[in-house]
Amino acid sequence: MRSHRVAVIPGDGIGLEVIEVGKQVLETLAKKSGDFQFEFEDFDWSSQRYLSKGEYIPKGGLEKLSKFDAIYFGAVGSQDVPDHVSLWELRLAICQGFDQYANVRPARVLPGVKSRLKGADEIDWIIVRENSEGEYSGNGGRVHQGHPEEVGTEVSVFTRKGIERIHRFAFNLAQSRPRKKLTLVTKSNAQRHGMVLWDEVFFEVAKDFPDVNIDRELVDAATTRMVLKPETMDVIVATNLHADILSDLAAALSGSLGIAPTANLNPERVFPSMFEPIHGSAFDIAGQGIANPVGSFWTAAMMLEHLGEATAAERLMAAIERLTASGLQTKDLGGTATTRDVTQSICSDIEQQ
Ligand code: ATP
Ligand code: MG
Repeated sequence: MRSHRVAVIPGDGIGLEVIEVGKQVLETLAKKSGDFQFEFEDFDWSSQRYLSKGEYIPKGGLEKLSKFDAIYFGAVGSQDVPDHVSLWELRLAICQGFDQYANVRPARVLPGVKSRLKGADEIDWIIVRENSEGEYSGNGGRVHQGHPEEVGTEVSVFTRKGIERIHRFAFNLAQSRPRKKLTLVTKSNAQRHGMVLWDEVFFEVAKDFPDVNIDRELVDAATTRMVLKPETMDVIVATNLHADILSDLAAALSGSLGIAPTANLNPERVFPSMFEPIHGSAFDIAGQGIANPVGSFWTAAMMLEHLGEATAAERLMAAIERLTASGLQTKDLGGTATTRDVTQSICSDIEQQ
């Protein structure tokens, strides 16, 4: 029996709700398959912990986490902790600590889901986000705080190594897809150093992938193209900040923030990779049992794929698509189903497959 050790960090808000049912679905898949199992370990690293103990991650926490095969993460964010603190102390500490430099975000309109965008059925993208440096390198500072002459700087750091590895990852991914298309997104007209380096390295790496169809777009033009000509894009590679924004747009265009998944990959597998739904803690609906768990389930499917359980991943995706097609939908999609209703439907579908 294959065994997968998964560290579970539900985090805050609806993260707790969608990860709990995500585990239930994963257990159902393992039982169905009969030849693998999960060893879950829960970690209470959350804003609540920070408020009572002054830290998100305890001493030696990352070291402990490094022994797992994967990390299943909910969301972090609280009304009582500034967002830049919670994000850096927990999520980014893990992403950067484990060099999860490739953030992968698929966007597709699932059957039965209504997008606000006409022609959204043609959305079938994977956004590859550089996840270790760039605009989120954490460099910069403030001088003369509170003074009328105060200055704040936010320094983006782009390294040739960092750029090259994300481009290689994106090219390999594009090569594995039927359309083999890759769009580079930067802002190299206005930002003339790091962004130009991004462009240059992209075209260098492209030489090793002659069968991949490439084009480039400035980030502002990329947003309009995603809305007006969604069918012309396939894999999109962009920097930390740009891809962060584009992937929220992609998630909204494909129906709801509650559906979209993310993988934070350390492709060399030196460290564990982390899987999380794209949405945040969503305190406006937390604790009501109405969060859409589909993003957490699709995330689980990406994790299964990463763990080598392709059959279980396919089973789960098939169950998700039958669910959305059936019209059983949570409030964010215009329905009245609860988190539990959706979970039960997915689990019984898996059992009956
Ligand atoms: P963060 O600050 O981490 O981005 P957030 O609290 O702003 O988190 P988002 O995830 O960005 O929340 O979501 C914005 C809104 O979209 C939420 O307030 C919620 O109303 C809705 N939403 C997000 N995820 C879900 C979901 N899984 N199910 C239902 N509604 C959701
Ligand atoms: Mg938000």
